[in-house]
Amino acid sequence: MARTGFVWDEKFAWFELSNYAGTAPAGPDLMQPDRHVYDPEVVRRFRNLVDASGLLRQLVNLPPRPATEAEIGRVHTAAHIDLIKTLSAQPTGGDPGDNAPVPRGAFQMAALAAGGAIVAADAVMSGDADNAYALLRPAGHHARPDRSMGFCIFSNAAIAGRHLFEAHGLKRVAYVDWDVHHGNGTQAAFYDEPRALTISIHQDRLYPVDDGFVGQLGEGKGLGTNLNVPLPAGCGVGAYEAAYDEVVIPALQAYRPEVIIVPSGFDAGAMDPMGRMMVHSDGYRSLTRKLMKAADDLCGGRLVFIQEGGYSPWTVPFLGLAVLEELSGIRTGVKDPHLAYHRALAGQELLQHQQDAITAAAQNIKYIPRPD
Ligand code: ZN
Repeated sequence: MARTGFVWDEKFAWFELSNYAGTAPAGPDLMQPDRHVYDPEVVRRFRNLVDASGLLRQLVNLPPRPATEAEIGRVHTAAHIDLIKTLSAQPTGGDPGDNAPVPRGAFQMAALAAGGAIVAADAVMSGDADNAYALLRPAGHHARPDRSMGFCIFSNAAIAGRHLFEAHGLKRVAYVDWDVHHGNGTQAAFYDEPRALTISIHQDRLYPVDDGFVGQLGEGKGLGTNLNVPLPAGCGVGAYEAAYDEVVIPALQAYRPEVIIVPSGFDAGAMDPMGRMMVHSDGYRSLTRKLMKAADDLCGGRLVFIQEGGYSPWTVPFLGLAVLEELSGIRTGVKDPHLAYHRALAGQELLQHQQDAITAAAQNIKYIPRPD
C-alpha cells in the first residue's frame, strides 16, 4: 500500500462556463443555451465517487493553496497574467479567444488550481505522500506561456515543474500527458528546457489541430526532450499499452527523471464526447501500473497526477477511481458498470496502422539526452 495524496477543494467546481452549449456560445447561429462541455459536475462526481467508495478517508488529504503571481510567472508572461486578472474582475468575465472563456473570479480559481498542482508536487517531494492526485479545475495543459487556450488559463502542470526546479533543485522532470488532446501548453513551456522531458500521447490533430506532431523534438538545449505520440482516432487499450511499452516507458528509462508528472485527462475513455478513443477502466489501471513500475525503478515511486480534461459525467468518476485504486493499492470493491461493455467493443486490440504510428514515435527516443 502507498500513501496517496489527494488534492481537492469544492471551489474548483465553482469554475463555471455559462451561456454555452457544448463548446459553442449560446445565442448566435440559433444555438439554444445548454451546458458548457467543460462541466464542473464531472470533477465533482469524480470526487464524490472517491468519497462514496470509502477511499477518500484512506488518502492523504492535501488542501490546495493559491499559487503566487511569482510562481505563475515562472511559466506565464506578465501580460497574460494581467489580462486574466482584468477579465476576471469584470462582472461577466471575458473571452480572450482560443476556446478559453474567463468567468468572473477566474484568476483566483486558476491560481488555486496551479497551487493545487504545487501542493501535490511538494507532498511527494517531502514524503508526506508516496504519490499524489490533484483533482482540480480549471485544467492547464493547453495554456501557453502567453495565452489561455482550450478551457485552460494557467499551465498547472508546467507551474508545478518549474516549482520543482526552483524550490527543490530538481534537474530532470518527466511529463506523460495521457489526455486525448495534445499537451501543447506543457510542450511550449519547456520546448527549449533540458530539465523537462515532455511526452504527450494524444489523438492525432484533435486539438490543437495544428500541433502535436511526431517531428516536434524540442529546440536549443531542449532538443530531444519533447516526444509526441499522435495516435489515429479509434485506438483501444491494445494500442495504448503498446505506446507505453514501446515509447513512453523506454523514453522514461532513457531520461531517468527525478519525478514523473502525469497531466491526466480521461477523455481518451470510451464514449467520451470530446475524443474518439476507447480506453476503459482496466486500461487506465494497466497504464497506471506501467507508470508506477517506471517511477519505482527510476525515481523512488514519485508520481504526481494533475487533472486535465475528461467530459463524460458518467464514465470519468469510474476511470479516475480505477487510477486512484492503483496508486494507493487499495481496492474499494466498486465495480465499473461500463467496463464489460467497453471491453467488448470491436477494435480494442492493437491494429497495424496504430502500430505504424507508435513505431514512428519510437524512432525519436534516440534523441533524448542521457543524464550526465
Ligand atoms: Zn483533453
